[in-house]
Amino acid sequence: MIASAVQNSDLIFVAGHRGLAGGAIARELASGGYTNIITQTRSQLDLRERDAVRRFFSETRPGVVVLAAAKVGGIKANNDFPVEFLLENLKIQNNVIEAARDFEVGKLLFLGSSCIYPKFAAQPIEESSLLTGSLEPTNEAYAIAKIAGIELCQAYSRQYGCNFISAMPTNLYGPGDNFDLASSHVLPALLRKIYEAKLHGASEVSVWGSGTPRREFLHVEDLAGACRFLLEHYNSPEVVNVGCGEDVSIRELAELICEVAGFSGKLVFDPSKPDGTPRKLLSIERLKKLGWAPRIGLREGISRTYDWYRDSLKG
Ligand code: GDP
Repeated sequence: MIASAVQNSDLIFVAGHRGLAGGAIARELASGGYTNIITQTRSQLDLRERDAVRRFFSETRPGVVVLAAAKVGGIKANNDFPVEFLLENLKIQNNVIEAARDFEVGKLLFLGSSCIYPKFAAQPIEESSLLTGSLEPTNEAYAIAKIAGIELCQAYSRQYGCNFISAMPTNLYGPGDNFDLASSHVLPALLRKIYEAKLHGASEVSVWGSGTPRREFLHVEDLAGACRFLLEHYNSPEVVNVGCGEDVSIRELAELICEVAGFSGKLVFDPSKPDGTPRKLLSIERLKKLGWAPRIGLREGISRTYDWYRDSLKG
């Protein structure tokens, strides 16, 4: 039967190690003494291809899987490309989760997202609010794929006794993030815009929407720590939120990045861009009760990410 606690010697497949979350999780596991981590680039293994995924599982036989591979993006990318966000995510997660059961993986951790919860969920959002109301339209396709992934993990758990667990991270940021302005999330986008405005001596920076929506931001190293904690200690199909417990308005976020960057120009709000959901703050009581809490505050996390971004440009 299934071993519940992950051992240092287990062969762990981290799917999506080139992404923000997967990369941080692979580093966290390696620094925590897990010596047997396998990764695959997209050219080595396209997770959307069922046969290729099954071949990989049959040949390598991982004991543990972290499913951090997904097509992700900010509000504009999600709104513009719902087909790809729905279809690619369904393919990736169906292939990996199905293969995990068929090739006897002992434990699987599926990463979802805070956008799975209803647009007007009571705040802070508890895990129990899943499927109690309609979703935010700008990322409904992505959210539905992620909800299907949770459901599949829970179904495998109930029907076949698989130890497949699911974590719901809030908005993540940190080193290795996507800084492309058309497809990124707000934090890396504003960090880049403000960095460039300061560099070029610009007098203003454009911020999408009204600046009033509220978001919670978790440094990806905290997310990675939480994932390791769940792999080591959590064995229930009930989803677990992973957040920092505090949110800020987009205006406050922009002002904080300006302070960190030393930029004193003006913020100009662009109402032609969507605001998205008004507020998205996760309740992290379940995770805290299990014994885990985040460590990296927003100012420190932004400052570290700002330095990383500036250094990464030096090549
Ligand atoms: P969301 O959390 O799914 O809504 O995704 P985002 O992180 O992309 O956007 C969060 C909020 O930040 C939305 O209200 C955006 O309109 C706002 N925002 C402000 N400026 C920007 C920007 O330059 N890029 C992005 N992606 N969002 C921005």
